[in-house]
Amino acid sequence: MSRTIDIEALCAERGLRITDQRRVIARVLSESEDHPDVEKLHERASSIDPNISIATVYRTVRLFEEAGILERHDFGDGRARYEPAPEAHHDHLIDVESGKVVEFVDPELEQLQRQIAEKLGYRLVDHRMELYGVALDRDRKD
Ligand SMILES: [Zn+2]
Repeated sequence: MSRTIDIEALCAERGLRITDQRRVIARVLSESEDHPDVEKLHERASSIDPNISIATVYRTVRLFEEAGILERHDFGDGRARYEPAPEAHHDHLIDVESGKVVEFVDPELEQLQRQIAEKLGYRLVDHRMELYGVALDRDRKD
């Protein structure tokens, strides 16, 4: 889902002090659409400001996550991946070979999940759905 979420503005809203390095990391996160992990974020942030250490990236994403600005995902490869907390809900399909992450929303699925929760005596307030797959056309490639 294309997004230009202004993380810097969210930080200001939540009263987070924004340093120059945090600003760079916020910008990189705002512009990333691929659910990057900390290493990838560090790569991108340090190409803008070479003084940014990976430890700073770790601390900053943790801070942003605690403030509810970022969402952390674990897509089964043991690496934490981040995206700006989406304004509208979506789910993820992960290509287990390439690691590519596809976002989707399916109204029927959303409805079904609400119904399941209700049947079990609950009102659904949140869920996470991750599908893992291999591309159907992968055998036809090259
Ligand atoms: Zn996503």
